[in-house]
Amino acid sequence: MSIASNLNTIKASLPEHVTLVAVSKTKPVSDLMQAYEAGQRIFGENKIQEMTEKWEEMPKDIQWHMIGHVQSNKVKFMAPYVTLIHGVDSLKLLQEINKQALKNNRIIDCLLQIYIAEEESKFGLDENELNKLLTSVEFKELKNIRILGLMGMATFTENQNQIKKEFTHLKSIFDSIKKSHEINDLTIISMGMSGDYQLAIECGSTMVRIGSSIFGGR
Ligand SMILES: *Cc1c(COP(=O)(O)O)cnc(C)c1O
Repeated sequence: MSIASNLNTIKASLPEHVTLVAVSKTKPVSDLMQAYEAGQRIFGENKIQEMTEKWEEMPKDIQWHMIGHVQSNKVKFMAPYVTLIHGVDSLKLLQEINKQALKNNRIIDCLLQIYIAEEESKFGLDENELNKLLTSVEFKELKNIRILGLMGMATFTENQNQIKKEFTHLKSIFDSIKKSHEINDLTIISMGMSGDYQLAIECGSTMVRIGSSIFGGR
């Protein structure tokens, strides 16, 4: 199957309220261009340097999403152009994003990453840390970032019940912060990848991050 037909099949299966991020990490620009020619404009990358090289080379109407873990010292390289940063998991990182956004005279949209999996290796905040962050004075001072929602990754397992439990947990945290904090524009729940996006959508996802089902294995 070609990249364009994979993309079209997936797009046709998504409800209208769900946004597709085409995860293109490790793939060459020629592959991304096939998706671009097929109409895709949102791409997700997990390394800032690789994303920046692709941004420089590719058409400027592409929206670049950073979906990987972000090191503070590299924020400056994507601050001029990044559309959405999914994996924000500390106040310190938010402060650096705010600082670099200010330098570029823009507001950078972010998602806060929530730890929902049962694996040690996954990054993210738990519910208490999230609430602490959102109520802190330091957070309220940040004028050049905007929190649009939450992101999470389920445990890497075949167990559908486990994955469903984790996605449902993220959705319930989203609903509760939407109620208890005054954050405008809270609309995005970024959850679901190639193996679990249908389940994620059933559980309330509004943004899926799909790589291998579009571009093939890595
Ligand atoms: C790689 C990656 C994806 C896409 O994974 P696939 O299984 O290839 O669809 C989604 N989200 C994050 C954070 C990733 O790193």
